[in-house]
Amino acid sequence: MSNNVRVRFAPSPTGPLHIGGVRTALFNYLFAKKHNGTFILRIEDTDQNRYVEGAEQYIVDALNWCNIPFDEGPGKNETFGPYRQSERKHLYKQYADDLIASGHAYYAFDTAEELDIQRKESETKGETFIYNWHNREQLNNSISLSKEDVEKRLANGEEYVVRFKSPKDETLHLTDIIRGDIKIDTNILDDKVLFKSDGMPTYHLANIVDDHLMEITHVIRGEEWLPSLALHYQLYKAFGWEAPEFAHLPLILKPTGKGKLSKRDGDKLGFPVFPLEWTDPKTNELSRGYKEDGYFPEAMINFLAFLGWNPGTEQEIFTLEELIKAFDLSKVNKSGARFDPDKIKWFNHHYMQEQHNVELAEIFKSQTSELSTIDPEYIALVIGLIKERATFVSDFWELSHYFFVTPTTYDEKASKKAFKEDTPELMKSLISVIESVSDFTVENLQTDIKGWITSNDIGFGKVMMPLRLSLVGALQGPDVFDIMFMIGKTETIKRIEKAQSNI
Ligand code: GLU
Repeated sequence: MSNNVRVRFAPSPTGPLHIGGVRTALFNYLFAKKHNGTFILRIEDTDQNRYVEGAEQYIVDALNWCNIPFDEGPGKNETFGPYRQSERKHLYKQYADDLIASGHAYYAFDTAEELDIQRKESETKGETFIYNWHNREQLNNSISLSKEDVEKRLANGEEYVVRFKSPKDETLHLTDIIRGDIKIDTNILDDKVLFKSDGMPTYHLANIVDDHLMEITHVIRGEEWLPSLALHYQLYKAFGWEAPEFAHLPLILKPTGKGKLSKRDGDKLGFPVFPLEWTDPKTNELSRGYKEDGYFPEAMINFLAFLGWNPGTEQEIFTLEELIKAFDLSKVNKSGARFDPDKIKWFNHHYMQEQHNVELAEIFKSQTSELSTIDPEYIALVIGLIKERATFVSDFWELSHYFFVTPTTYDEKASKKAFKEDTPELMKSLISVIESVSDFTVENLQTDIKGWITSNDIGFGKVMMPLRLSLVGALQGPDVFDIMFMIGKTETIKRIEKAQSNI
């Protein structure tokens, strides 16, 4: 493929970006980077009624957090700008006019009430109202009305829309990279509105004009736009423009695999459906985000890449660079991709192991008041010992509190199991062994304590269980010698003594 691949992610700023939108952005990004192309962000805000304050910034922040920033877009390399459709408003009318002039579109003056009557009439006959070749000659438009009448109405400032004149009895041959060839009978298509007399284009016109002007080579978007493909193809043809290639990504399905994933599924099953937290500016309702829930962007990206795509091998862990290399639109599935919230946890656990402990320590410290006076280096060492069992930073405290504070309670069942009649005597001897360890290192502790146990034929469990319980408060945690080394000699002895008097 040539070097000038240009793709766009074209969200409407009607709220926070849903996880499906992030997947669309990711696939566009991967495709662009794979072909040394350009990834463009275009804000499709022609529908001012649905505009939501803060949504555009949210989209930008989400892409940046996921580490898939756009190359061109609002405020960045504006060669083909502006990139907000509301700022391109002046461009579209001319294109609607061109289509009318070439006979591909027409003015329609039908009022909302008139169309409502038509709709009801169809309903009573058990039909769905559709505005196209079969009835447009009987409706109120520049096909049925005289030229003079149309001119008079326009001059009087009567409200109108411009509709695409969908042809009768034609078969369209469409191609989709993922779905292959698609045949469409034009008789079932309605004459979609392209432009309104308030000067605003609809999604269809603005989208096609902008894709053309921005020299988009591949349109990669969600399956919900597949029904628009026939119109979009016809618009390209009507303008005499070369159409880009299309790829419609499969739906993202509920965890059960039945039906489209919705925000409500997330609320019900307790997982976010948004990348970042979002507060609705109107209702103040707060929606959770993957970032704030403690997910790493690498986990999110790796997880999303597998929603509808797979490399055809067993490999599941991919860095962004590896994804770019392996990504191929022809390996994207047609069928819906089931959203599995446990799988993203699995990825998060994996990426947790790859994070730098010093960085994790910073996050852990900032989230935990008990750590405010603790040396970050010490925290990082603790994390190195426990993170194997953690999925989120928020798991750290539960797994590591005993590295920072002396246990005050002891697991009852474990106490019964670990503390026997001869335990006090053994612990006393153990303390003397510990006291005499010359250099308090993990190795020395291990050699001296194990040596003492074997030479006295004591049995490991009899010593190690009460020791661990004294240090941790439960029979859990990493290697006991690591724990002793970390908390130090004095604290180790203190804890063994304390446990004696508390159990
Ligand atoms: N504005 C549309 C959306 O919100 C864009 C669809 C397309 O990519 O053509 O998803």
